[in-house]
Amino acid sequence: MGIYITPNPCIRTLLARRNNRLSYLGRDEGTKDSEVVNLNWLLLDFDPVRPSGISASPFELKAALSRTEDVIGFLKTKGFQDFLVGCSGNGGHGMARINLPLTDTSLVKSCLKALDEKFSDNVVKIDTSVWNSAQLWKLYGTLACKGDPFEDRVHRLAHVLSAPESFCVNPREVLEALAASTSSAGPPSDSEKRDKTTAKTAPPLPPAPENAFDIEGFIHQHQIQVEGPFPWEGGRRWEFNECPWRVGDGRTAFLIQFANGAISAGCLHDTCPGSHGSGNHWKDLRDMFEGGALNRDQALHGAELDAALARLPQTEFGLADRLRERHGNVCRYVEAWKAWCVFDGVRWVQSQCGAQDYAKDTIRRLQDEGRHLEENT
Ligand SMILES: [Zn+2]
Repeated sequence: MGIYITPNPCIRTLLARRNNRLSYLGRDEGTKDSEVVNLNWLLLDFDPVRPSGISASPFELKAALSRTEDVIGFLKTKGFQDFLVGCSGNGGHGMARINLPLTDTSLVKSCLKALDEKFSDNVVKIDTSVWNSAQLWKLYGTLACKGDPFEDRVHRLAHVLSAPESFCVNPREVLEALAASTSSAGPPSDSEKRDKTTAKTAPPLPPAPENAFDIEGFIHQHQIQVEGPFPWEGGRRWEFNECPWRVGDGRTAFLIQFANGAISAGCLHDTCPGSHGSGNHWKDLRDMFEGGALNRDQALHGAELDAALARLPQTEFGLADRLRERHGNVCRYVEAWKAWCVFDGVRWVQSQCGAQDYAKDTIRRLQDEGRHLEENT
């Protein structure tokens, strides 16, 4: 069940409807715009683009929250102060104190329009409809229940991410300056509204860039379990059903091919070896799949290999070279993870023990190599 409040103060008489108690909202019982006494809040609502009536995926939520941070950062450069930053359960919230009469709703509306023009795209939209004085707002600490929980589209608690100790009232002038930056000061025409709606339900999927790495082929060849592609900042994005960097991380990893063909891969989980905070992991990812696929079935224990390795020096470096030559297709040290990994037939997994087995095998085979040396002398 969703619980909503009217952030702006209402006339006191409304207490006669429900005197400080909670119950379902009856028809025509909602607070009307005219029953609000003052505009106390500038409300910002950031929604990830997805089919209507469903909860956001972790990826969509993260995109919305990062857009929230971007916009609030921008507003601070324009003189706004003291934002509550929240998570609505499916997107981002920003709340800043204002103190305006009801006659100024059009000013608030223009502010939202200006932000929408500047920051909305096919990934995250700024809701331009939350300007009215009796606007409902998700109550923090209560569950957002859009649709049924399905796979990673779970019901989440709306919550406050950060809030100042106290809120200073943002002066009318900063809102006016923001509103003035919109392309037209008037309300959106019906056709503009229609355009926005169409864009929201059907974001276009750009074609694969020409002469770029064939991501679809790569996914197909290695039977990588992904969903997508989805449109993403002019390019295309895939989401892994399971994080390839850390098993059990959930559906947190992504692969993006931008319009110019550049590829980015990573995981949204901050502590994952593939965390996108530590850079682009496309190279790792490719190594992970192609390194394993390379020579996987090739017999590496033949007499020919023994003879070749027999010529390597009997030193630690020589042993390291032998390990690489014999088992490098299935066993390697991954610098980014600071760990030994083995290929389990599907993916690379961290395994100190597995690597030790390959190392022991390498030592054991020194005898076979020795036989070749004796034969040749
Ligand atoms: Zn991960």
